[in-house]
Amino acid sequence: MTDELAEAISRRRTFAIIAHPDAGKTTLTEKLLLFGGAIQLAGEVKAKKDRIQTRSDWMKIERERGISVVTSVMTFEYQGNVFNILDTPGHEDFADDTYRTLTAVDAAVMVIDAAKGIEPRTLKLFEVCRLRNIPIITFINKMDRESRDPFEILDEVEEKLALDTAPITWPIGRSKTFCGSYHLAANEVRGSDTEEHTKKVSGPEAVASRLPQNEQEAFIDELLLAREACKPYDQDMFLEGHLTPVFWGSALRNFGVRDLINALGAFAPPPRDQVADVRTVHATENKMTAFVFKIQANMDPNHRDRIAFARICSGRLERGMKARLARTGKQIGLTAPQFFFASQRQLADTAYAGDVVGIPNHGTLRIGDTLTEGEQLVFQGVPNFAPEILRRVRLEDAMKAKKLREALQQMAEEGVVQLFLPEDGSPAIVGVVGALQLDVLKERLSAEYTLPVSFEMSRFSVCRWVSADNPLDLDKFITARRGDIARDLDGDPVFLAQDSFSLRYEAERYPAIKMVAIKEYQ
Ligand code: GDP
Repeated sequence: MTDELAEAISRRRTFAIIAHPDAGKTTLTEKLLLFGGAIQLAGEVKAKKDRIQTRSDWMKIERERGISVVTSVMTFEYQGNVFNILDTPGHEDFADDTYRTLTAVDAAVMVIDAAKGIEPRTLKLFEVCRLRNIPIITFINKMDRESRDPFEILDEVEEKLALDTAPITWPIGRSKTFCGSYHLAANEVRGSDTEEHTKKVSGPEAVASRLPQNEQEAFIDELLLAREACKPYDQDMFLEGHLTPVFWGSALRNFGVRDLINALGAFAPPPRDQVADVRTVHATENKMTAFVFKIQANMDPNHRDRIAFARICSGRLERGMKARLARTGKQIGLTAPQFFFASQRQLADTAYAGDVVGIPNHGTLRIGDTLTEGEQLVFQGVPNFAPEILRRVRLEDAMKAKKLREALQQMAEEGVVQLFLPEDGSPAIVGVVGALQLDVLKERLSAEYTLPVSFEMSRFSVCRWVSADNPLDLDKFITARRGDIARDLDGDPVFLAQDSFSLRYEAERYPAIKMVAIKEYQ
């Protein structure tokens, strides 16, 4: 490892923001980019929601529904660190996309609405982070509005998430009187991020003087209690996922955002080790390795291209280098890797472990693919979830069946839907986690392949990947249940059941067969 490589990698911070819709993820992303200098004016990210045509406004359906369907990455530099924010769709119908993206981050910012506390999506996303030991920094947003008592919010995080909290700052005032935060360890007052920022103070009384007279005494008591009762910050416990540092602010009114960026720089880990099938890969190894966690087609309607988002796990990616695709053993040329900024992309000449690059391709790359400089290894852990909705695709023009099959295959490779081909030769079944994914499929088949389709109920509603320690047991099962077996994109067998009752019944009848709801890409 060279010093230059180690230094570049140590400056990388790759993270996602997890939040329940409406907690302020978009606003916070926008402000992080603004203070990070990546965009000139706040509003570029927001534009999406206001249905203004922007370059990141990739799909009509996204505009119509006002939701962000796609996952993207945004990069900015701040005080020597390089921050990669991996954006995730807020809508739960695209949850599988979000979970896959979380495999590519080293830390997460959990945004909580100060009035609402922990909401269902926050909880779910937190659980995914915990499974992967992703350390979490908490940002309590909307302190400029009516909010709950800070202690009550901290208690809720501790109880509902079983996560220790260590407030780094404490809010000064609430709703109308909210005017910044107090850094408990540094004894500093943080004002608005756009004006005065940091000011050393002599003690709680000096902080309280910023509040109306009638709130001062209660505030001083609160600070003393916070100092006494709250746990101190502990970096090891944070990295292990047992403790979260907490910040208070208002993304909309520019409070607490700089503190959050600083915390990401100071606390969040540099690119972490990644587990592959044959060994663990360290970020600072010389040789480049990467995995694909997301495919996005037609990001730019003028180009009709397909971009694979790859997280670099080790070493350095140089434009023009060749990489080995583990799934096929073939070499591919990385001639035009790209970086993404708020609404622009740019050729990436050099990218380091922790960075995410977009690799344009015409179908060579799939979700879960591993790229190396030659070594045969496959990164583990990019999940595939058993769909909860299964449908047959009905084609209006039966002559186009072959074209449909090809289109579905492509959509499945991109992770838009999952495709199951029944063993008995009956028509293909598509599976999705959320109903909106079907709308995306329909829209894209029509717009990109001129294939008008509709969906029909299938007699199946549940599916599981099946395997067995003894291949003979699996063969026996597949032969016995041929009418209920399909193959996924990789040719792996999937058992389709009418409902969860019959699934349980079959699982009991065939104890040698393992039936799983999550498959990791291999
Ligand atoms: P997302 O759904 O999590 O991306 O949330 P948005 O960033 O779109 O925010 C949802 C709504 O809350 C919008 O109307 C924002 O303007 C508003 N909002 C976000 N942050 C704040 C804040 O700090 N204070 C107040 N008062 N409103 C906020």
